[in-house]
Amino acid sequence: MTSSGPIRPLALRARIVTPLAAGGTLDLADGLLETDDGGRIIGVRPWRGAADAAVEVADLRPLVLLPGMVDLHAHLPQLPNAGLGAGLDLLTWLDRYIFPLEHAYDRSVAERQAPAAWSAFAAAGTTTVLAYAAIWPDSTDAAFEAAEAHGIRAIIGKVMMDRLTYDAGIDPGRILESSLRQSDELASRWHGRDGGRLQYAFTPRFAVSCSADLLRESAALARLHGAYWQTHLSEDGGEINEVRRLFPDARDYLDCYERAGGLGPKSIFAHAIHLSDDEVRRLVAGGSAVAHCPASNVFLASGLMPLAAYRAAGMRVGLGSDVAGGPEASIFATMRAGVVVQRALELTGRAAPDGALRPSDWLRAGTLDGAGALGLSHSIGSLEAGKEADLIAIDPGLTTPLPGDEQPLDTEDLLSRLIFRTHPNMVRAAWVRGRPLAGPPGIGGIG
Ligand SMILES: [Zn+2]
Repeated sequence: MTSSGPIRPLALRARIVTPLAAGGTLDLADGLLETDDGGRIIGVRPWRGAADAAVEVADLRPLVLLPGMVDLHAHLPQLPNAGLGAGLDLLTWLDRYIFPLEHAYDRSVAERQAPAAWSAFAAAGTTTVLAYAAIWPDSTDAAFEAAEAHGIRAIIGKVMMDRLTYDAGIDPGRILESSLRQSDELASRWHGRDGGRLQYAFTPRFAVSCSADLLRESAALARLHGAYWQTHLSEDGGEINEVRRLFPDARDYLDCYERAGGLGPKSIFAHAIHLSDDEVRRLVAGGSAVAHCPASNVFLASGLMPLAAYRAAGMRVGLGSDVAGGPEASIFATMRAGVVVQRALELTGRAAPDGALRPSDWLRAGTLDGAGALGLSHSIGSLEAGKEADLIAIDPGLTTPLPGDEQPLDTEDLLSRLIFRTHPNMVRAAWVRGRPLAGPPGIGGIG
């Protein structure tokens, strides 16, 4: 369980289910997945006998192999308060439950909590995380160091706030300059580390806590580094009113980011629930992606994202746990909430016709679409030859209502079970680049 040392080639026999880059879903009832000593997938094919494999085959049946989940939105310091504060609105919840926790997330707290956080993500089946740290640069370093040691694929950013910040000790005249300088230094240290497994995201929290200067300068720095730029967009009614008050010249919420140069293919916006048709059009034209966080949107009563309509408009959408706005660091739980939100939209008559997502669409959203949102679909997000071996092994028996009475399930029913009866221990192993991650219980010596 380490990210260092040689990578052992794998030959895994199991049921293999994956979205395909060319479209559709591959479901091999009895398949073989092989990886090389560089952590890449050599091939995925039906089982034809052990003689075909270059290394000793690990027979994982009845486990199921899936691509690792991609979590496009999570807050590392917030994990201890996951599930707390139900019934509050976003801004009250931030003040009461979140800002105190983020304020306390100094280097020593991050050193203690971040390794456990990465293990918790891996235990939930997540192999790639786009995360916010706190405003402190040294605890962001600690979060990166923990990810480097753990082996998970992580894109992290120090939170930037130059107004309404929880750092009461800083000189207001210097906060913009220091936040930019600290983020610049972190990006220089971490962006692209370990062959691109670790990357940096400039992270202005949201327009409520960022000046126009901070938004513009952080976007310029992100371009300079070739790094990501992440923030929140149009999550909650109270927040939208506040943005309108703070940016009276902006034509809408998106415009605050658009005029800062924040739209582009490496920008990820979390939530984006209450967009006008014009905002949707400009967001799509700008090539930016959205992290859909339905578990959080329901927990904080932020709203119901019209996902099917956004997808029909060409928006690139992946999934985010938004832990702790979302109560679980699990993309399976996020998918479940996503289905509930889409069904609720049907009840309100706001669902797009023919827009219902099938379980296989949700699998794609949580894997290949998330990878695509990050511009990484050429290397992760599906189990296909040539890609890096980021995958998970799941015990589907744990999801059945009557243990020991498993019935053969077709692709959609299997995925529906995994989404709606997610078991906390069902992820038995997770690998990034063919290396097993700490967190899941593991499988013998290989995972
Ligand atoms: Zn968030």
